[in-house]
Amino acid sequence: MNYEITGHTRLTGLLGHPVSHSISPMMHNASFQRLGLDYVYLCFDVTEKDLKTAVDGLKLLNVRGFNCTMPDKTKICDLVDKLSPAARMIGAVNTVVNDDDILTGHNTDGIGYMQALAETGFSIAGKTMTLLGAGGAATAVCVQAALDGAASIHLFNRQGRSWNHAKELAERITRETSCHVELFDLADESSLKSSLDVSDLLTNATPIGMSPNETYSPIPSKNFLHESLLVSDIIYNPRETLLMRQAKEQGCRAFNGLYMLLYQGAEAFRIWTDQQMPVDFIKNTYFSK
Ligand code: NAP
Repeated sequence: MNYEITGHTRLTGLLGHPVSHSISPMMHNASFQRLGLDYVYLCFDVTEKDLKTAVDGLKLLNVRGFNCTMPDKTKICDLVDKLSPAARMIGAVNTVVNDDDILTGHNTDGIGYMQALAETGFSIAGKTMTLLGAGGAATAVCVQAALDGAASIHLFNRQGRSWNHAKELAERITRETSCHVELFDLADESSLKSSLDVSDLLTNATPIGMSPNETYSPIPSKNFLHESLLVSDIIYNPRETLLMRQAKEQGCRAFNGLYMLLYQGAEAFRIWTDQQMPVDFIKNTYFSK
């Protein structure tokens, strides 16, 4: 299809630092072209101190919307006019839409994870989940799992930087949704084993096992995993982590974070264009290698 920038082309893009490595421009621009939509997606390297100036400028230029990556995901909450319910609970925004000068902040990371999960045929409703980590990605996954009807989430985090945040997150989700979230120390192996014994889903949202630390797993032994547990790693580099290999050795199904990445983008695309991203085309073009 012929693709031209015109006087009507709407701008979308990514703010953050660094941004040049991002797959988002390829994913969105290929989708716009495929569907014949008059939009373009560009990357803007913006540090936290310049975020307000950048957002004011983008609003003035009447852009359709933009994504935010670290370190801007938290600060942007104060710069938008409204927050979606999930973004408010997560306390972070990765997608902003501009409707007639009203900026609304969304968080599509959790939705992206849930769509990747749904693609395996798993429904979170009424299920018990063991979630490792309480950083940005874990928080988004935890909130969305609760909003989508998980019965119970056992949140395991090390007693470090994000421990107080994890405590507050567990209390808030338990108070505001029908899901019960309980916090445990990741170093407490006995609680981890007991949690996994009663869980339907294990999600690793820590960077343990991510390249170049591929010989590490967030669990002490593959024997912690039972056959009917679905195991997921939100890491996508490497494509198969040690945790995923341990899962397969125990007869569990396992998947990586690649489709979370795809579907968080697909949800942003839907918010901006009101159209579904052609995900099969994007998978074949950018996610098959
Ligand atoms: P983050 O905000 O820095 O959070 C990392 C979490 O893991 C924190 O709870 C941290 O605890 C914990 N952690 C880090 N190193 C640990 C270790 N050695 N042992 C135990 N716990 C450890 O990072 P994030 O943005 O949530 O990202 C986490 C992972 O998800 C990364 O691998 C990232 O690439 C991946 N990710 C994937 C997607 C996707 O679309 N698939 C999206 C976002 C992120 P402390 O707070 O105590 O340090």
